[in-house]
Amino acid sequence: TDLVGLDNLVTNTAYLKAQHVDRNELRKLRLSLTLPKPKKSSALLRAGEKTYESLCEQQPIGRKLFKQFLLASEPQYMAAAEFLEELNAWSFAEDETRAKKIILTKFYQLESRNFLTCLPQEDAERFKDLSDKTFNEVIMGQIKEATRNFLKGKPFSEYLESPFFYRFLQWKEYEKQKISNRYFYEFRILGKGGFGEVCAVQVKQTGQMYACKKLDKRCLKKKGGERLALLEKQILEKVNSLFIVNLAYAYNSKNHLCLVMDLMNGGDLSFHIYQLGERGLPMERVVYYTAQITTGILHLHSMDIVYRDMKPENVLLDGKGQCRLSDLGLAVELPKGKMICQKVSAGTTGYMAPELLRQEYYRMSVDWWALGCSIYEMVAARLPFKDFREKVQNEEVTRRTLEDECKFEHKRFNAPTKDVIRCFLKRKVGHRLGCRGGDPRNHEFFKSINFHRLEAGLVEPPWVPKSNVVYAKDMYEFRDDSEVLDIELDAKDEKFFKEFSTGAVPIQWQKEIINTGVFDEVNNANLNERDSDTVND
Ligand code: ADP
Ligand code: MG
Ligand code: MG
Repeated sequence: TDLVGLDNLVTNTAYLKAQHVDRNELRKLRLSLTLPKPKKSSALLRAGEKTYESLCEQQPIGRKLFKQFLLASEPQYMAAAEFLEELNAWSFAEDETRAKKIILTKFYQLESRNFLTCLPQEDAERFKDLSDKTFNEVIMGQIKEATRNFLKGKPFSEYLESPFFYRFLQWKEYEKQKISNRYFYEFRILGKGGFGEVCAVQVKQTGQMYACKKLDKRCLKKKGGERLALLEKQILEKVNSLFIVNLAYAYNSKNHLCLVMDLMNGGDLSFHIYQLGERGLPMERVVYYTAQITTGILHLHSMDIVYRDMKPENVLLDGKGQCRLSDLGLAVELPKGKMICQKVSAGTTGYMAPELLRQEYYRMSVDWWALGCSIYEMVAARLPFKDFREKVQNEEVTRRTLEDECKFEHKRFNAPTKDVIRCFLKRKVGHRLGCRGGDPRNHEFFKSINFHRLEAGLVEPPWVPKSNVVYAKDMYEFRDDSEVLDIELDAKDEKFFKEFSTGAVPIQWQKEIINTGVFDEVNNANLNERDSDTVND
């Protein structure tokens, strides 16, 4: 077993070392990177990507290039761009009054006044005589809207004809490159799922670390999991939230379908509740994680998606100590008005809502119930209707869920925590927090949280994982399942694998390119050198 231990140490060391990659070393390797020539500009953009919102606001590279265009253009455009930036900074500022003064001063500087003249007459009039006193959130929103409307007009159409947009199309062409195993280095296993393992991987070119969920093609076919895998992928690529594990690439290798997602190297919450130190988490952490989870759930619900698998085990921490919802395998999209009801209930024993157990029709309510159970578990290291490791029949847990009162025996429960749990554990859907109207974020339990800053990732985590610890089971604890050999893959399967393998997910991929410095490196080359940098088409 010494050898096994050594093996474990070696794989862990390689994995930890990769996370502290030397960017200069990588830069040397990249010297030869040149962007391809865009093929046909209009065909390059998928439907829905051609709007101002998508091109200049949502896609990170588009946003950068549009800003560069504005800064290189007329003073008016420059002022508009800088002004929008200031407005954003102001809305996240901790000290609002000070930030307000700064922005007002800027606003009345010469160039900015100049910019005011390009707003429609009535807007310009309205904003002309602002002072400390009249400057508030509402006015701010109006100025922002007016500025955006201005940018959407002439500046936007000029941008589409500029070298900056040509550069954007080059990046889009590059974004469509084919992804295979060769694109990544592979590191240790982090966990195991129903259809295969999850490994840490690193993009060779950028050094970006990710987690890769590898679904065994034959195993999927044997267990009939193909449709579910595609659904999980489609939901993952739709979400873009700081509090949900985002998808960066979907591709297929010889034997696997691969989902490449944010690497969450801080372990899952149930590991933190039960395995580390004293059982249960300090209140400060409970509140912080619950706030992030709530934001993640609200994001899913805003897209008509029910998560259906809310439990601490599915909440993963990243290296900074922020958490995200993962494993969207049970999630479903329910367009407005559509309800769902299933004979076999979806979820995990102990977290399932009464309406689900009674096999009634339901929508988003089940997630709030499960959140109530999860908060309880973070505090007390047991579930409201099931003790830790209690050997008990599912029928009994169902009975307790439908009939028993929720007791709060643990000393750590304080009044707001008890109240928020009681509100989430209302058996009548119409009375439950999150379902009865009103925003759960306004509950007293969250009074220490500034959600606006939290949503921008600006609130420091109360606990940070150690950078030299691997928060996963040791390598040899992952059983090596024998391969599925008695299944043949046919043309129909291949067609499905192709449909699954859409490559890079635009927003996440663009973030990677920017955050790893590749964007700046390549863009420092002169934008006007249209022909000299179109080598490999
Ligand atoms: P399944 O849907 O088959 O249960 P999961 O998505 O839950 O698969 O992944 C299996 C395990 O892999 C998880 O329990 C977790 O330990 C690990 N894992 C999953 N996603 C990540 C991630 N993004 N980062 C780190 N580990 C992960
Ligand atoms: Mg799982
Ligand atoms: Mg799953």
